[in-house]
Amino acid sequence: MTASSATIAPLQRLLSRHRRSRALGLLVMAAVFATAPLWLSAADEYTAGLAVVAVLLALSYNLLLGSTGMVSFGHAAFYGIGAYTVALFATKTSLSPLLGLAVSPLIGAVSGFVIGLICLRAVRLYFALLTLAVSQLLYVLAFEWDTLTGGDNGIHGIPVPDWLVDPNNLYYFVLAVVVVGALLLWLISASPFGAALNAIRENRQRSAFIGLRVKAYELAAFSIGCSLATVAGALYAVYDQQAFPGLMFWTEAATPIVMVLIGGLRSFWGPVFGAVLYTVLASRVRSSTNYWDLLIGAIVLALVLLLPDGLAGVPRRLGQAWHAITGRRRPGSASVAADAGVLMALAPIEAALRTPPPPRGETAALLRVRGLGKRFGGLVAVHDVDLDVLPGTVHALIGPNGAGKSTLFNLVSGLLRPDTGTVHFDGEDVTGAAAPRLARLGIGRGFQTTSIFPFLTVAESVRVACLAITGGTRRPLPPTRRLHRERVDHLLEGVGLSGLADVPARELSHGDQRALELAISLALDARLLLLDEPTAGMSPYETQRTLSLLRRITEDRGLTVLLVEHDMAVVFGVSEHVTVMAEGTVLAEGTPEEVRRNPEVIRAYLGDEAEEWSA
Ligand code: ADP
Ligand code: MG
Repeated sequence: MTASSATIAPLQRLLSRHRRSRALGLLVMAAVFATAPLWLSAADEYTAGLAVVAVLLALSYNLLLGSTGMVSFGHAAFYGIGAYTVALFATKTSLSPLLGLAVSPLIGAVSGFVIGLICLRAVRLYFALLTLAVSQLLYVLAFEWDTLTGGDNGIHGIPVPDWLVDPNNLYYFVLAVVVVGALLLWLISASPFGAALNAIRENRQRSAFIGLRVKAYELAAFSIGCSLATVAGALYAVYDQQAFPGLMFWTEAATPIVMVLIGGLRSFWGPVFGAVLYTVLASRVRSSTNYWDLLIGAIVLALVLLLPDGLAGVPRRLGQAWHAITGRRRPGSASVAADAGVLMALAPIEAALRTPPPPRGETAALLRVRGLGKRFGGLVAVHDVDLDVLPGTVHALIGPNGAGKSTLFNLVSGLLRPDTGTVHFDGEDVTGAAAPRLARLGIGRGFQTTSIFPFLTVAESVRVACLAITGGTRRPLPPTRRLHRERVDHLLEGVGLSGLADVPARELSHGDQRALELAISLALDARLLLLDEPTAGMSPYETQRTLSLLRRITEDRGLTVLLVEHDMAVVFGVSEHVTVMAEGTVLAEGTPEEVRRNPEVIRAYLGDEAEEWSA
């Protein structure tokens, strides 16, 4: 090692390990806040206390926006509920305002649950609008109910216990409560429950198909987030000794959003920095100019454009810039193409992959579809379809575009409800059952377009599937990172993704993303795998690799596969049984040989390709 690299290496390590530099930042921040009263002026100490309260508000909001992907405009309303809880305890009862603080998490959780129940009737934008409407109602209530809330003026001069009159004591009390709240939120977000929330943020639909009851998780996250926002509001009232309707005004809804955006979405601790920066800026600028709104707008605009991952992304960007300057590259995502194990599995398909089909009619079907039908308005997409998929077989579903294959898949896998007919899985009636139940019973499905968790790493994606299917994601406690480790490693090895465990799923090649989807389905211990055009858009190499993988997996695990495919080489190479659909009905079925020779199939479906086929 040369002298210069010896001096550079530690710095480089510090910059590239952005995790570590974030921990360092937090440590500095913690030291600053722990010692603030010692070296700050009284006025600045007061601002520091407000910043501490804001940290809890921002972190509680980050559970919704950052962890779960829910945009709520109602967070300020819960902050207001907390403040009024303390104010009312202090002024309308002879009880201590601290008792108000103590019950605030409960009040926040219950009202969050009820309001969440109403607002979660809708998703995404409409959910956000409902939260805005509810918070506006609460604002008007606080504003108009003079006798209780003091109306426009609010309630001021909330008395606090004697030992909190000293500003230093008050500051440390607030700091202690916020530290406890922050640790609680951190534990939740690092837990299996938090992993489920991340999966939902990344892909709601896929989450349902790994067995998560998405709305229930969203409701839980919403209640917890609102509960801690209420605590933050209660803490504010204790600290600032007032509560007023302006806390709940609809423009205040933007405050936690801006704090989280400045700090960085998808980073747990980022919003801490966002909240502090926002509060300090607000107190400085608001007192000196009237252009606060303009300034904060400009800051948000600049951040979103220049630092889309917020302050939390700064260390990583610095690291990247450092690598760009020094000409070193991050250890990149190795291509799987060099995976010798996979290459060896690429034996010629026809010869190696064919096993004699089990005699039909003797074994009970694993999937049994009778008379299935679905209309979209006037269009009959699927009509009176019967289908038997025998256990341990690869069953192909083919047919021209628009034949109804994907619709049939959606009917069987719980995405659509059939109009007529029944679906039985392993003897159990699952007609119209929802995706999470089907996932638990052992039906895994892939989508025609790749459906993954873009920002989760490969290992995280598979792990959350393992957790979801075992019900582990209901647990709010132990950190996830070590759970199911061996199983995840084993599954990734099985699909040839071992080397890419820590790469975000969105950075994988198309073929690797498909392999990841397969690993996720396998993590569910699915007995029946529904794959909609698993090789669509793949290079010949990737196609072959996927097929041999499929074949190996079905043989090793006794898995049953129902697959939609348009590539005939694939169909004949890999499947034991073929069902041909056309215009929503079953046109023919049988072994690949039988189908290949069926004159009706040739006439109705194959057209030009007929000669090529029968050759
Ligand atoms: P395939 O997968 O065999 O190409 P699909 O099942 O996707 O066929 O589509 C069958 C027919 O149903 C097509 O005519 C398609 O336009 C129609 N269809 C599919 N999904 C919907 C939907 N959600 N709403 C309306 N029509 C649909
Ligand atoms: Mg389709």
